[in-house]
Amino acid sequence: MQVVIRPQDIPPQGRHFDFDLDSSQLNERVAEVRKVADHQSLMPPSYVFNSAPKASLKVYRRGNSVEIHGSLFGAYSTPCSRCAEDTEVKLDVPVNITLEKSAGKEGEQDDVAIGYYVGEEIELQSVVEEFAVLALPFSVLCSEGCKGLCTSCGANLNSEMCACPPAEGDERFAVLRGLKIQ
Ligand SMILES: [Zn+2]
Ligand SMILES: [Zn+2]
Repeated sequence: MQVVIRPQDIPPQGRHFDFDLDSSQLNERVAEVRKVADHQSLMPPSYVFNSAPKASLKVYRRGNSVEIHGSLFGAYSTPCSRCAEDTEVKLDVPVNITLEKSAGKEGEQDDVAIGYYVGEEIELQSVVEEFAVLALPFSVLCSEGCKGLCTSCGANLNSEMCACPPAEGDERFAVLRGLKIQ
């Protein structure tokens, strides 16, 4: 489902658009972004939008430029950076962008608040997807106090205590090691 606007059809007072994003299209876009090698080690292994985020936008035309203001909200799941449990994260981001008409190819974008459109139509979902992608965090914790996984046996320390000795170099236990009687 595409939400296509034609800038010349936008009335002077602007027009309101409410729509659900196509979550499979969004998930594909997010997966593409994750493939960029530089980011791979910094980002969680996946972000999945299980339901369609909603966009609520007001679109204005200023000459050949189109201003888009509104918000995007929904939720996605991603593994906790410490224990890898799937964690649901709320997405609620403002959308503010001016799209300028470009005669040729899409220009290099150095300002996220300004974009370009080519031709007579603008596909709103792809404009809004960019804001979802930019809002994704580099790490997510299932809770502030997540204890993570045991580095020896892989047990989830939030739900079980394992019998492994404290790992070497774990600073939480460094004090205790210092107290050992020789
Ligand atoms: Zn966790
Ligand atoms: Zn263990």
